[in-house]
Order: sequence, then structure tokens, then C-alpha cells
Amino acid sequence: MDLAKLASTPHRRLNPLTGEWVLVSPQRTQRPWQGKVERTTIGTQLAYDPNCYLCPGNARAGGEKNPQYDSTFAFDNDYPALLPDVTDSHAQTSDLLVAETERGVCRVICFSPRHDLTISRMTDSEIGRVIDVWAEEYSRLGAQPSINHVEIFENRGAMMGASNPHPHCQIWANATIPNLPAKEQLRQEEYKREHDGACLLCDYIALEVHLQQRIVCQNKAFVALVPFWAVWPFEIMLACKRHFGSMSELSDRERASLADMLRQITTRYDNLFEVSFPYTMGFHQTPTDNKAHPEWHFHAHYLPPLLRSATVQKFMVGYELLATPQRDITPESAAERLRTLPREHFLGPVQS
Ligand SMILES: [Zn+2]
Ligand SMILES: [Zn+2]
Ligand SMILES: [Zn+2]
Repeated sequence: MDLAKLASTPHRRLNPLTGEWVLVSPQRTQRPWQGKVERTTIGTQLAYDPNCYLCPGNARAGGEKNPQYDSTFAFDNDYPALLPDVTDSHAQTSDLLVAETERGVCRVICFSPRHDLTISRMTDSEIGRVIDVWAEEYSRLGAQPSINHVEIFENRGAMMGASNPHPHCQIWANATIPNLPAKEQLRQEEYKREHDGACLLCDYIALEVHLQQRIVCQNKAFVALVPFWAVWPFEIMLACKRHFGSMSELSDRERASLADMLRQITTRYDNLFEVSFPYTMGFHQTPTDNKAHPEWHFHAHYLPPLLRSATVQKFMVGYELLATPQRDITPESAAERLRTLPREHFLGPVQS
């Protein structure tokens, strides 16, 4: 494939994980990079905020008081989208009006007692403790008979609708496999069947590591890249180099490698426009439905909204909402910009 020929022509790219296409219009960015970096002042956040419902010792909405935790803290969401105890029921008046109950659990995990930190500004050992909690929660929730899928995700920044800057993530664990993971599972199964048992993402990662065009950073166990089919301007996929399906299969070394990558990716993001970079990120891994899933390859997606500066964001509207998502800057140029950024955070070391 001659990507150089496509580099200045409108074209579409296939996402093999979903079977969907993205429209790429690089001719719209022919002129050199003109993104003026508007540096928004980073709010000098306090290490402890007496009004934050996630800070240690503070009261939450339901009246419960947080413990004086000193690393991570996990609890049931006070406003859960899913409930564990619902009576099974199924409503279908025709093939067109179908509904059924959905059972599940929603959890919140604070990454740090510090209100003013982000993953990008935590140490690898602090991030390692967060990974330990993720792995524990994944295994514990997944072991419940009524839980067949565990989604761990983080909304970072007000632009992504995060209600609180305190570093935290959510876990929604439920009885059915949600839309996107179900689609990716099907495509991974198909690929395996059609390629003599090969894994879609193992093959894709090997190809990208060989081509070196879309890699952002990598270490022994993980690689971060802007996918060939990325929709968001600075979208990143983080995947393990070894084939395994979930975080419960991480070796100690791989956990350390994952912590390193989570910090590296978010540091590059912050450095891109010198702001606390907003994003939604989350993991895709083996469903906990007690079936063997040799097709699943553990990975994470980072979906950040910023386009040209701290204040200019990409909107999914118009053609994108009604037809096909579209992007201007190519994934190759986005990867190059992220790759060449400094590894050290622009704010310097964290003051204790
Ligand atoms: Zn807080
Ligand atoms: Zn694989
Ligand atoms: Zn995925």
C-alpha cells in the first residue's frame, strides 16, 4: 500500500477491530502546522480540597465519610447507573419493541489521596498500586456469577464531563457484554478463524513495530501507537506485546511496564498543549463469562477531544454523527508530534 499517495488525498481507512471506516481528509491541513499554543493557566489546585467528595476524610453525597486513605480507595458509586439486585424481566411486544433488565455494579476508584495529582504526575509505584486495584476489582467483580463484563474507564477533565478533578476512575460491571467490546470480540474471533488461529492485535502490533510510523512510545511489554484508523486527532491505543486477554494475567514485570506506559502517554498528552490534557480512556479485555476467550488481546483506548490547542476541540457532529467519522491530520503526523515531545512533564517534578 502506498500511503504516501494517500497522504494528500481524501481516503477512508478501515478499523479492523470494529469493521467501521473513518474518512481522512489530509488535504485540509496542507499548510504547515499553525496551531497557536494557547496556554491556559493550570489551576493551582490544592493537595487537599475540603469541598471534594473524593478527598480523604470528607463526606460523600450519601453522607458516608471517606477513610483517611493514603494510596488508593475504592467504593460503590453513590449514583450507580446499574443495580445488583433487580428482578429479571423481559418485555417484548413485537420484534420492534424489545427491552430487558440489566444487572450490574458501579464502582469508583480514587488513584491518590492528593486532589491535585494526575496519572501523568504520579510515580510508577503509585500508578502500580492503581493497577493492582484494577486487577483485583476485575477478578473480584468478574467472579460474580451475574457479572460477565467489567469496564474500567477514566474521564479526565471537565471537557469530558468529569465531575471532579480528583484523580479517579470508574468501573461499570454488568451482566451483558456492551456494544463496543462485543463488536471487537466478534472481529477478533473472525480474524482468528480466517488467519489460521492468529491474533488480530498481535499481527497488527508486529506490523506497526516494524513500520515505526505510528508508534508513540514503547517499552519491554507494551506499545502505544496512534492507530491507522484513529478517529480522534490524538487517539492512542495501548496494547501488550505478549498475547493475553486481561489484567489478571499481567506478570509483575508487565505491571511495572504498564505503569510506565500510563505515565508516559499522559505526560506526552499534557506536554502537547501544556495543559492537563482531557481524555476518556478505558481498557478492553476478556469478558468474565466463564468462557475461554483465546481471541481477546488486552488493550486500552485513549480518546482525547483536543485538536489544535488547549481550547480548540474536535466535535463529532454533522456528517460524523449521521454518516462516518472524519479527521484532517493523519494518524502518522499525530503520532510523530506525540513521539517527539519531551518525556519529562512540563510542570517539572511534583512538590510534596
Ligand atoms: Zn479531592
Ligand atoms: Zn494477541
Ligand atoms: Zn478495544
